[in-house]
Amino acid sequence: MRDENCIFCKIANGEIPSRTIYEDEQFRVFLDLSPAAKGHALIVPKEHYANLYELPEELAADAMRLAKKEMSLMTQKLSCDGFQLVQNNGETAGQTVFHFHLHLIPRYRTDGQKIAWEPGSMSDEELDAVKDQIIS
Ligand code: 5GP
Ligand code: ZN
Repeated sequence: MRDENCIFCKIANGEIPSRTIYEDEQFRVFLDLSPAAKGHALIVPKEHYANLYELPEELAADAMRLAKKEMSLMTQKLSCDGFQLVQNNGETAGQTVFHFHLHLIPRYRTDGQKIAWEPGSMSDEELDAVKDQIIS
């Protein structure tokens, strides 16, 4: 299943060139054009799924297995000091390309990046209420 208007469908399937660092039947991993840090890459499935909600469970598991492998390889080759995985779902959460992707972001002590959130605060009662709302 592909979406002919989707840029990541075109990149993942080789219609648009990319700086590919890994490819198999299910995924292409290529460098982000606007990297947060040196080596910032994206794991992208070749089939079109808009986000993690839509991604089949088995493909999600395979994406995470691949992330672990690539993260170890990239850490060796780039000698980075840390590593972040980022995955955005929906505009509110910062998603700008609506084809599932997992960011692989090597981090360096001196990279000056801030990929984080402002810590909030909640009362014990509010935390209890949230827990009760989502517990399964
Ligand atoms: P999102 O904000 O959806 O989580 O991430 C989308 C990412 O895709 C961004 O980091 C952006 O730099 C990257 N990106 C957008 N268009 C292209 C493109 O045409 N080629 C490549 N290699 N990266 C892209
Ligand atoms: Zn797509």
